[in-house]
Amino acid sequence: MRFSECELDRYARQMVLAEVGGRGQEALRAATVLLVGVGGLGAPAALYLAGAGVGRLVLVDDDDVALGNLQRQVLYTTADVGRPKVEAAAKRLAALNPELALDPRRERFEPANGEALCAGVDLVLDGSDSFATRATVAAAAARTARPLVSGSVQGFEGQATVFAPHADAAAPCFRCLFPADPPADALPSCALGGILGPVAGQLGALMATEAVKWLLGVGPSLVGTLLLVDGRAARTDRIALARRPACPGHGAAHPDLNLRETSLAPAERKQ
Ligand SMILES: [Zn+2]
Repeated sequence: MRFSECELDRYARQMVLAEVGGRGQEALRAATVLLVGVGGLGAPAALYLAGAGVGRLVLVDDDDVALGNLQRQVLYTTADVGRPKVEAAAKRLAALNPELALDPRRERFEPANGEALCAGVDLVLDGSDSFATRATVAAAAARTARPLVSGSVQGFEGQATVFAPHADAAAPCFRCLFPADPPADALPSCALGGILGPVAGQLGALMATEAVKWLLGVGPSLVGTLLLVDGRAARTDRIALARRPACPGHGAAHPDLNLRETSLAPAERKQ
C-alpha cells in the first residue's frame, strides 16, 4: 500500500477529489515548498500546506513572535511571544501533521543564500513583507527556475499571483510587474500601514491553494494574472499581466536584477 491507514484517514476529504486522488497525494507528499516568511501570509499558508500533506516545508524567517503578530499570524499563541517564529511554527505544524519533514531556518532570505534555498525545493511561496525581500526572492526563483507564489497585503486589500517565467515563454516575471524598486519610503511597513488579520488569512489561503494546484498540476493557475482582493468592498478583480518584451528579469541569461537605471513607470498591464 502506498499510504498508511493513518494517511488515508487524514487526507480522505481531498483524495476523494478527482484532481487529487492517490497520485496527487503522492505528488504532494514528495514535494518540498519553501516558505519565505511565516507571518501574516506565511502562517495561514503553512497551516494549509501542512494539512494538505506537502511532504517537506522549509521555513525561513529571522523574526521572533511578538504580541502584535497574533492578530493575524495564526500559527502562534500568546505563549510563543519572544520565541523564534520558525521554532514556534515548526512545533505547531508538527503537532498538526507529524507525517511532515520540517526544516526551520532562522535566517533572512538574502542574495547570498537565496539561490541555494530555492534550488532545493519544488516551489517557493513568498509571504515576506518588504519589497526588497520580495524582489530578492523573485530573482532567486527565476534564476533557479522555480515557480513562485507571491502575495502581499495591506489594510483591507491584498494581491496575489504566480510567477513562472521559466515554464511559459509568455509568462511575466516579477520585474514585468515592478520594473524598478519603489523609493524606500513609498510603501508603509506593516507596523505603520496597518493590516486586517482576516484579509491576510484570505490571501495566505489563496496562496496555499495556488501552491497545491501547481504541485498537483491542476490549472489554470494565476500565472499571468494578478488577483486583487478588496476586503472592504468584498470583491475581487483580475488584472492580466503582460510580459514586457525588454524585461531583463527572465531566467539565467539575466542574473543581475539590479535595475536602478530603469524608470519608475508602472508595469504595462492589459485588462
Ligand atoms: Zn519580466
